[in-house]
Amino acid sequence: MRIPAVHEIKRKFTELYPDYPESYFTNPARRVVSKIRELWKRGKISELKEEFLLKLMQEVFTEYETPSLKRVINATGVVIHTNLGRSPLSEEAITQLVCVAKYYSNLEYDLTKGKRGSRYVHVEEILKEITGAEGALVVNNNAAAVLISLNTLAKGKEVIVSRGELVEIGGSFRIPEVMKWAGCILREVGTTNKTHFFDYEDAITENTAMLLKVHRSNFALVGFTKEVSTEDLVALGKKYGLYVMKDLGSGCFIDFSKYGYLKEPTVQEVLRAGVDVVTFSGDKLLGGPQAGIILGKKELIDKIRKNPLNRALRIDKLTLAGLEATLRLYRDEKIAIEHIPILKMILTPEEELLKRAKKLLRKLKRAIKSFTFELIKTTGKTGGGALPLLELPSWAVGVKSSSLSPSQLQEILREVRPPIIARVEQDVLLLDLRCVFEEEIPLIVRAFKELEVYGTEKV
Ligand SMILES: *Cc1c(COP(=O)(O)O)cnc(C)c1O
Repeated sequence: MRIPAVHEIKRKFTELYPDYPESYFTNPARRVVSKIRELWKRGKISELKEEFLLKLMQEVFTEYETPSLKRVINATGVVIHTNLGRSPLSEEAITQLVCVAKYYSNLEYDLTKGKRGSRYVHVEEILKEITGAEGALVVNNNAAAVLISLNTLAKGKEVIVSRGELVEIGGSFRIPEVMKWAGCILREVGTTNKTHFFDYEDAITENTAMLLKVHRSNFALVGFTKEVSTEDLVALGKKYGLYVMKDLGSGCFIDFSKYGYLKEPTVQEVLRAGVDVVTFSGDKLLGGPQAGIILGKKELIDKIRKNPLNRALRIDKLTLAGLEATLRLYRDEKIAIEHIPILKMILTPEEELLKRAKKLLRKLKRAIKSFTFELIKTTGKTGGGALPLLELPSWAVGVKSSSLSPSQLQEILREVRPPIIARVEQDVLLLDLRCVFEEEIPLIVRAFKELEVYGTEKV
């Protein structure tokens, strides 16, 4: 079999897509040629049919034209899914972000004085207003917030942490390592399941600078356990003149127990308990863009702001715009719940999810014959290191195929446009409706229609 030359395929591309110059097709043509060579070597083709070549070229070009970072449909039922970009933003945040992206802004310009200003002022007041904190600073993410706070307040000194709180979050954030990079000496106390007040007190030396409490985020200790409350740690810190810091991880402003959910400590409560510094993420339970928020005593926040590391960890203007708009929604809890997508998703009642699942089921059953669909009761999760024990009662559409296994189906759905990320449970593929936007339902139906018409085979 003769393998076509790159320049031949390039010319063919210009016939297929006449709006582009021929030079645009160098890379796609190379990909096509190498794919043909590979298929031929593996014995998959013995002659090059025109129809096959055109299909291959279209596939390659579509892939070439699709951005790598793209939207997906989250049908997993996990609301703050770190792999899927955590929190989708509110309309308010998007509008503000687009405006600041498109035009110039007063990012570091004081409009009253007509001279250089600070980027941090844009969220400082609103953070203080909502939480009652004395001082506020934002950085790139919560890992950065923990790093810079430790480095500023306890460099070269000992930081006492309970063994039950030496957590790892999402692979690379591990408390012992962050401690090392911040230049602090980790002093672990207590045991995995129990840490007492006296464990902390006995570990205090002349070189101790801080007592650190870390939210366990992605796991829970149950059974024979004991931990020291934030209030008690604050009292101990006062007695010995030590800083008390809390890495709250998710950080939420809303008391979920009011809505019948498990209790997650709020930022306001932690501050009221008297900690010197609290840090948390902008894109977990807060529902904003990726950011690390540091709140606490004014003089300490000022010190952290002046740390040269701050320049390396600084927040960018798009994030600031999205974050400020998100925070403003929290002036009223009802508005926050209505406008911030992840709060709305978490608080969506089960009956509503059942209604949505029935709607999707009806549409799929009507349009598609080669798969079977059924309603399945299931549970979702908040994710994002928040409420690890909370099971959110939910409804899903289960999908079965006579020729494909659930994991094969799962793989195929990852390749449709936009990709649909689904879960497999008890040998059934589930489309959980909690995190599926209303306007995505037709996209799911369309994807299944295309699978039915064009089949699931790729070239
Ligand atoms: C998620 C989390 C972090 C890391 O926050 P990022 O915003 O992802 O950097 C740190 N500490 C705790 C306890 C967390 O849950």
